[in-house]
Amino acid sequence: MGKIKVLPDQLSNQIAAGEVIERPASVAKELVENSIDAGAKRIEIHFEGGGRRLLRVADDGEGMARDDAILAFERHATSKISRLEDLFEIRTLGFRGEALASIAAVSRVELVTKCDDEPHGTRVRIEGGKLRDVEPAAHPRGTTITMRDLFFNVPARRKFLRSEATESFHLTNLITHYALAHPEIEFTLINNGRETLRAAPALDLRERAYQIFGADFIENLLLVEGGERGSAFVRGFVSAPRERRTSRDAQYLFVNGRFVRDKLIARALSEAYRSILPHGTYPAALLFLDVPFDEVDVNVHPAKIEVRFRRPELVAETIREAVRAALHGAGYVPLAVAPG
Ligand code: ADP
Ligand code: MG
Repeated sequence: MGKIKVLPDQLSNQIAAGEVIERPASVAKELVENSIDAGAKRIEIHFEGGGRRLLRVADDGEGMARDDAILAFERHATSKISRLEDLFEIRTLGFRGEALASIAAVSRVELVTKCDDEPHGTRVRIEGGKLRDVEPAAHPRGTTITMRDLFFNVPARRKFLRSEATESFHLTNLITHYALAHPEIEFTLINNGRETLRAAPALDLRERAYQIFGADFIENLLLVEGGERGSAFVRGFVSAPRERRTSRDAQYLFVNGRFVRDKLIARALSEAYRSILPHGTYPAALLFLDVPFDEVDVNVHPAKIEVRFRRPELVAETIREAVRAALHGAGYVPLAVAPG
């Protein structure tokens, strides 16, 4: 008798879920990205118990037909890529076709959706990866996904969830990122029945930043714009030197519209402030870097928060110079970045 066994689907889905789904905010990330990919104009996020007990994302995007609504929960089921070449030119936030399968493997999920092609909507219920039922349901065009009891069937992971306050903080931070990246979309965040963030559709990033951070923050921002369109171009805002902070928490970095945690960009930003900000302090920043889709690999990590650039030095230089120019324009520094 051999010793090797192929794991049953449910178990392999749970293992895969471990890579993508770490906490309620990771579920929110996947669901909100799906809403954005579906062309939503309004996204409402509702959570209870820090998202551990309940997390609901409702959108007015294109919705799904009945058969797709069931298929969507299969692993590697995606409408976003179909050929290997697509992988090198990713324009959507999702593409792995893993998120819904992973979420459903470790929680109780209810999806209600309706698309224009069908006269009525569909409700699908899945618990711990097991399809419970599929039935017709009323819903306006769009999709509402409710996740309950995260890790109810994976006690080892449930143990690692943090307090309600910590998980709420992560969720709020995440939604803030998406709201900044998509001023044109209306975002509403409701925590235990209380609306904690509401951003009506905005004209541009400045208006959206005003909605989220308030007037004081906006007044101290310097406009950043520089680089070369089609190779590396950065736009956004950085704070004036007097606005310094003791952590990088107020740095919101995006690459091709996707928010990232990127040491290269963070370092280039710090370099631009060298000799202006005391050691151990950081500027606030909202920076959007655009590079050609084939110059950045977003497929580094399942959670897609890290990226790899084909020309890292070009990216660093673009950021450094654009930020330096903004500081210079406001009279803070000479234009050249001091060597060293
Ligand atoms: P991916 O986003 O990588 O394709 P997901 O597991 O997140 O994989 O979703 C699977 C598929 O389900 C998507 O490709 C999309 O076709 C569909 N889908 C998921 N969420 C939504 C939504 N909110 N609105 C419309 N379609 C959706
Ligand atoms: Mg997705």
